Amino acid sequence: MSGVCTVPRPVQLVIDDVGWREGWDASADGGPFRAGVDRLLGPADYAAVAELGAALGIRPQCAMVLCEWDRRNTCADYPTTTFAGRAWDNRDRLGPWLDETVAVIRENGAHVEFALHGVGHEHWENGQRTRAEWLGAGADDRWPPDVLAGHAECFRRLMRQNGLGGKGGETRLPVSFVPCAFRYLWDKDDAESTGACMARQGVRYASTPYSSCTFVRADLLAEDGGFDHDLFVLDRGNSGISYKLYDTVPAASTPNSICGIHWPNLLRPDPTENGAAVARWADYLASLRDNPEVMLARTMPETVSQWFHWRFTTLRDRSDQWHLDLAAIPAKAWDLGLILPLVVKHAAAATIRSADCDILASWRRGDWGFTALLPRDGRAGTFRLGPEPAAGRLSEPGTCDLLGMARYGSSVALRLRVYGTQSIVWSGDRPASLSLAGSGARLDQMETVGNEVRIRLVGDPVHGSESELVVIGGHQ
Ligand SMILES: [Zn+2]
Repeated sequence: MSGVCTVPRPVQLVIDDVGWREGWDASADGGPFRAGVDRLLGPADYAAVAELGAALGIRPQCAMVLCEWDRRNTCADYPTTTFAGRAWDNRDRLGPWLDETVAVIRENGAHVEFALHGVGHEHWENGQRTRAEWLGAGADDRWPPDVLAGHAECFRRLMRQNGLGGKGGETRLPVSFVPCAFRYLWDKDDAESTGACMARQGVRYASTPYSSCTFVRADLLAEDGGFDHDLFVLDRGNSGISYKLYDTVPAASTPNSICGIHWPNLLRPDPTENGAAVARWADYLASLRDNPEVMLARTMPETVSQWFHWRFTTLRDRSDQWHLDLAAIPAKAWDLGLILPLVVKHAAAATIRSADCDILASWRRGDWGFTALLPRDGRAGTFRLGPEPAAGRLSEPGTCDLLGMARYGSSVALRLRVYGTQSIVWSGDRPASLSLAGSGARLDQMETVGNEVRIRLVGDPVHGSESELVVIGGHQ
């Protein structure tokens, strides 16, 4: 045994209302509230998110509002998405900032998650604004399903216009969602609940303050997580920061698995000074890691998987070994593919060895070590924590999702989801060969330096690309 080992609570940063070009509030005239700041928002404000993600080795989630990215006045086809309705004309807002912004998103897929918030954030009929885009005031104040489907279609068209539609003909919505104005209808028996509507559109994860949800019928799995149809919804609580305040961090450590804020909180009035706000946020988030029971999750799929492990997996230290038991994880979470290998947190110098668990990766963040592992039978396993140097393994997974592992004789295949450009590292015993299989991600570069193999992979910046890293020899 070598000190503490935990199944930590994941924390994911979620930033709302990213996407507005004009920051100012137009609500007094019936328009949108927007970001509530009196300046234009542009490439430097997206770069701030990427810079924060890179500093911490995470993928902060941007809940996007896309109407002001509209290059072809597509929103006019969905008149309830904007104040202007069918007369919507976005031409005056277009400019070099938009191509530059899209480039920031595409080049930083490893450190920015592009998520769904809405098209125009509210619902308008004949110039009359009602909060909000996906639901009105409650269960009896809802928008017709075809109107909601139209908003989703509009969002997809805006993604496609901007080169974020991915390969092939069909553009998928992002997998993560934040309901506008936190208006959310939760009813497991209602096919028009917000969760049912979003799950039908391919959305998998949502986060919102439960205090703002309209709960009709909901069987929560725990006080801060549950399913609404096939959508998994996490409680984000309340960070206590006004949405329009520049450069502000919460007064206390976030107690939830979601740290939810708004875009200006991470910015400065002068965008050339954004770095100061980013540094403040990097310090705040890094400080959450001082708690041995907390981790900054690298991605949203890791957040959700780890939430299940944190809530339902038991880790006990018994007769010189750590014992893991996953039997209490709800079957629906497995069925929906939400469960990834669990992440345990331990001393940075300690390494994990196991006879009955697959060890996918071990990496360091701050003063801590993290190891992703999964019992081979999917239910229970044991491991030892010791000072011995690790056998060959992935020692830096970047912000790739670690999906699983298969063994074939002396080779292993690590299944990864690669977002954007990722620099990953294999270290320890040098493998006989290392290659990428599958048509998902692209192997851009590979070099061996000492006992490290440094690999650069490129995948889709929004949805990620799934591939297998095939390692022959050198793995224990
Ligand atoms: Zn919002």
